[in-house]
Amino acid sequence: MRTLIIIRPYAVIRGLVGEIISRFERHGIRIAGIKVLRLSKVLAEKLYREHEGKNYYDSLIENMTSKPSVFAVLDIDVLDDAHATSLVRKIIGDTDPALADMGTIRGDFGLRIDQNIIHASDSPDAAQKEIPLFFDEKEIVEY
Ligand code: ATP
Ligand code: MG
Repeated sequence: MRTLIIIRPYAVIRGLVGEIISRFERHGIRIAGIKVLRLSKVLAEKLYREHEGKNYYDSLIENMTSKPSVFAVLDIDVLDDAHATSLVRKIIGDTDPALADMGTIRGDFGLRIDQNIIHASDSPDAAQKEIPLFFDEKEIVEY
């Protein structure tokens, strides 16, 4: 089962990419595709379409497009597809770093909900929609 993570600009600028990737690797999760790019406004709006109209929407799009992010397709061998996305969400922690448990990525490195350091697809359906926004099939490797 594949899912998408985005190590957002706040983490890239702080040099946390390696630390974050290693947390997934330690679970036995494989990196099947990875790239650095500065998100276009069009793609940022597609990714966060469901947040349009929220009071934080404009700054969310601005944050995501102002500096580079690291995009990765994770390949997760679990028995149930839904467990793959829920495991990844458990590793990243609650949306609000103040509520995220210690030991999670957001709990250990996050400060503010409006400066979130990582995104992850929140269901197998979301993963299937989000991965093709950023990766061609030939950029994803099975091993
Ligand atoms: P993501 O989709 O980035 O993985 P999430 O699924 O945990 O995060 P969502 O509710 O989908 O949380 O929010 C998407 C993003 O919108 C958050 O990562 C955060 O940057 C921003 N956001 C969400 N809620 C708020 C809020 N109350 N105030 C400011 N920003 C927010
Ligand atoms: Mg979300």
